[in-house]
Amino acid sequence: MVKRQAPVKKNETLILSIEDLTAEGSGVGKVDGYPIFIPYALPGEKVDIKVLKVNRNFSYGKLLAIHKPSTHRTDAPCPVFLRCGGCQLQHMSYDLQLEMKQNQVRNVMKKIAHLPDVPVHLTKGMADPWRYRNKVQVPVGEQDGQLITGFYQSRSHHIIDYKDNCLITEKDNDALVAKVREIANQFELTAYDEAEHRGILRHIMVRRAKVTKEAMIVLITRSKKLPQKDKLIEALVTALPNVKSIVQNINPKRTNVIFGDETNVLWGSEYIFDEINGLKFGISARSFYQVNPLQTEVLYEQALAYADIQEDDVVIDAYCGIGTISLFLAQKAKKVYGVEIVPEAIADAKKNAELNGMDNVEFVVGSAEKVMPQWTKEGLKPSVIVVDPPRKGCDEALLQAMLSMKPKRIVYVSCNPATLARDLRILEDGGYKTKEVQPVDMFPQTTHVECVVLMSRVEK
Ligand code: SAH
Repeated sequence: MVKRQAPVKKNETLILSIEDLTAEGSGVGKVDGYPIFIPYALPGEKVDIKVLKVNRNFSYGKLLAIHKPSTHRTDAPCPVFLRCGGCQLQHMSYDLQLEMKQNQVRNVMKKIAHLPDVPVHLTKGMADPWRYRNKVQVPVGEQDGQLITGFYQSRSHHIIDYKDNCLITEKDNDALVAKVREIANQFELTAYDEAEHRGILRHIMVRRAKVTKEAMIVLITRSKKLPQKDKLIEALVTALPNVKSIVQNINPKRTNVIFGDETNVLWGSEYIFDEINGLKFGISARSFYQVNPLQTEVLYEQALAYADIQEDDVVIDAYCGIGTISLFLAQKAKKVYGVEIVPEAIADAKKNAELNGMDNVEFVVGSAEKVMPQWTKEGLKPSVIVVDPPRKGCDEALLQAMLSMKPKRIVYVSCNPATLARDLRILEDGGYKTKEVQPVDMFPQTTHVECVVLMSRVEK
């Protein structure tokens, strides 16, 4: 192979025409076929750039000036867009965001799943792609003797003071965090100091139910000891009428993982309740719950449409969380089995089945990759399987268990197109055909993409 020299040098400035977008939302321009990635540049733009980092096969550059902005360029409305890192796409029209996500999924279908012809539909987006998050978790720091909340400065652990104006968080939720911070400041609470591993309050998490408006506050602390605990709780309860649950999570470790293992209710209920399409769900502090309520309906409706449940269907919902998808499936199916690794989530799922008067569901705590092979051995023969794994996708053992169960359909809900495509290839090789892929925009203004995929068993 001819060893090629990069055609650009570090610190060189040049004019580049942007042709494409990466999955991270960076613009891509080329010099003699050699790609340079430019954050915040958009396709169709001619830009001045400075080369920052040179590799043999590609470079990174910095956007210096735009000769003629793309019609898709927008002024990022958030004042801390470039510093926060929580959003990556505020400089881009929403239409382009949706198209970019569709293209990203198409690319992995081609390159990783080797399915160039599978239909990837246009991303289902929001009418108003702002102020959607029902959950916030903010780090707590200290500045001039005051507790502050905000975000970590990009690539650092320095907390920037920023409150009640995160444009992807529901307004009421934002205000709730600001209020908790204000009240915490009236008490002897210290912020956790990462370098010294001392101080108390590490993070504040707030979750609010879209339909019932019930809110939960979680104080994540280094120690179990919470100075002036009773007075603090009283102040929070008095000031915040919609709060139904105040919870302490204790994380004594030196780690940047937010939550620790111990969770205690300080006041009120262990849960808040919410509703999705007529079903009720109790959600406890450590359970996963979708963060974009309007799009959750879109996502679940798509998953149910693909599952196309008939009344004699036996269904598995793997990675079931608090049983949301499971209960929608159970409204139509003969029987639904759910598996999930977080014990608190399965406790919620069982209560949620009861709450909605459903007795044709069975929930099991465990890793899906262990429980599914066990179910196979026990002779469980589901006609439909739904999976909704975390970003790392499905474990090989789980994929093999699915193949040996031979369901007529598999519905794969995924928050990571790359692992989705990897897993689809394995399922294709095992006798399934990918019928269609529907991206759903659960996280507007960010590069994250959610997909729902329908696969059918190929009759031999
Ligand atoms: N379908 C649910 C949850 C999806 S999130 C919903 O829409 O709300 C993925 C879930 O998988 C989380 O609840 C997480 O705790 C769980 N999980 C992660 N790894 C797992 C594993 N190996 N086995 C089973 N569940 C797992």
